[in-house]
Amino acid sequence: HHFRPATSLADVQYPASHERIESPVDTQNFLDNKFVASKATTWLDLHDPATNNLVTRVPQSTDEELVAAVDSAEKAFKSWRDTSLLHRQQLMFKFTHLIRENWDRLAASITLEQGKTFADARGDVLRGLQVAETACGITTQMTGEVLEVAKDMETRSYREPLGVVAAICPFNFPAMIPLWCIPIATITGNTMVLKPSERDPGACMILAELAEKAGYPAGVINIVHGSAKTVDFMLDEPRIKALSFVGSNKAGEYIYARGSANGKRVQANLGAKNHAAVLPDCNKNHALNAISGAAFGAAGQRCMALSTLVMIGETKEWIPELAERAKGLSMNGGFEEGADLGPVISPQSKKRIEDIIASAEEEGATILLDGRGQKPEKYPNGNWIGPTIITNVKPHMKCYKEEIFGPVLVCLNVETFDEAIELINANEYGNGTSIFTRSGATAGRFQREVEAGQVGINVPIPVPLPMFSFTGNKKSVAGGGANTFYGKSGIYFYTQQKTVTSLWRSEDAVATKASVNMPT
Ligand code: NAD
Repeated sequence: HHFRPATSLADVQYPASHERIESPVDTQNFLDNKFVASKATTWLDLHDPATNNLVTRVPQSTDEELVAAVDSAEKAFKSWRDTSLLHRQQLMFKFTHLIRENWDRLAASITLEQGKTFADARGDVLRGLQVAETACGITTQMTGEVLEVAKDMETRSYREPLGVVAAICPFNFPAMIPLWCIPIATITGNTMVLKPSERDPGACMILAELAEKAGYPAGVINIVHGSAKTVDFMLDEPRIKALSFVGSNKAGEYIYARGSANGKRVQANLGAKNHAAVLPDCNKNHALNAISGAAFGAAGQRCMALSTLVMIGETKEWIPELAERAKGLSMNGGFEEGADLGPVISPQSKKRIEDIIASAEEEGATILLDGRGQKPEKYPNGNWIGPTIITNVKPHMKCYKEEIFGPVLVCLNVETFDEAIELINANEYGNGTSIFTRSGATAGRFQREVEAGQVGINVPIPVPLPMFSFTGNKKSVAGGGANTFYGKSGIYFYTQQKTVTSLWRSEDAVATKASVNMPT
């Protein structure tokens, strides 16, 4: 392969196909509003998961480049924080407009690098875009408070930006997660250094190009690349005041601990094991479709994938019917018409998932539907695993305890609603859960008693829209979930409060001695 250095991002045109790219273009850093070729000596090859053809190589940005990104953001902060809120709002309007215009281009880069279907990639972009659109309402979202605390005396509170903030993103939502961060961090007056996933930085690079086009001044958004080395730099760089992380528990718990120890604010969304409780009184057809879509869509590589079924009472008899629906899904290259799910991200990930399926078999579970060894005819070299359903699963099994992050649904049977709640609450993770029932009273008990942070009632993936916040809990968030992403708490995360107490008295002071006691 001959890699070409790109001169501008316009040079990088993602083909909306899985054809082999003759001369792939290097991924660049985005520093000070310019795409700059990296001087890296270490590069990470990026392959199309559907074909394993090379798409680009991603630099491990050098120390000089990482420092340059923070220098740029630090310099930009002084003037950026002084721009008016209305000015920043205008830029955000333009940015959202450009994202809409480039929707398909963003989605194509996601399908090519991440593997999800084009239709699903468009959803990835939209969910991020909605955060940016909601951020346009910042003028009414960031107001402080004022109280007359005594005669002639008042206290006012303001929300001020933190300075330079950083974001570390996962591979599974290459547009949405950067857009959980960029709009809110920048419209509140911060400047940023962002590291996309080294497995699929393309969408983020397009977002950088669009931000520059929208009129963002140089330095407000910088993008650097790499893996743990870049993250360690961000964790230890004192000029970075806050870190947003989304990804696995392994990386996230480390990042939370080291970032917090270094005095930074950290928001960190981690792994999941989302359960659906199915009651015999539910709308069966709706439940089976919803579960099949939420378990196998995006090849199960969503943190809110419905990966665990809790069949209550007689509903266990429905699993063969669910398997029929799963079989009906089309696994194919993401650009192919009618594709329902694409490949998993890497050969390593495929192997890890297959190993978990094998472990379930060894531990005595039943592989009711086995996706191992399946592949679409046109793409024999991709990282394929078809929809897989494992039944007779017990809580001690590895396939239940670990996040699988693939198109694998594990099914447990319980006799009663109470047992279902007990099982779900005993799980360490608490990202999301769903119940399928027609009974309002049962749903009411479920929402009150279940511990997961995001609850769906006849809704399989209850991710809140951006006027709310992403409210996972337990092991699915670091730091007890105090700093959830987007919504009000997203704005709180990216701002610090300042309170001003003032005394304006019309008459002259009469006493000549200072008062030294706390006022009583
Ligand atoms: P990952 O943890 O492997 O990678 C995430 C980021 O961390 C990447 O940018 C990566 O470069 C960096 N990283 C990886 N290992 C590191 C290390 N040892 N030290 C420092 N940095 C490191 O996660 P992933 O595979 O990209 O994403 C999948 C995971 O993300 C799943 O566990 C999924 O549940 C989770 N996720 C959670 C949410 C949520 O909101 N809860 C959303 C999306 C994904």
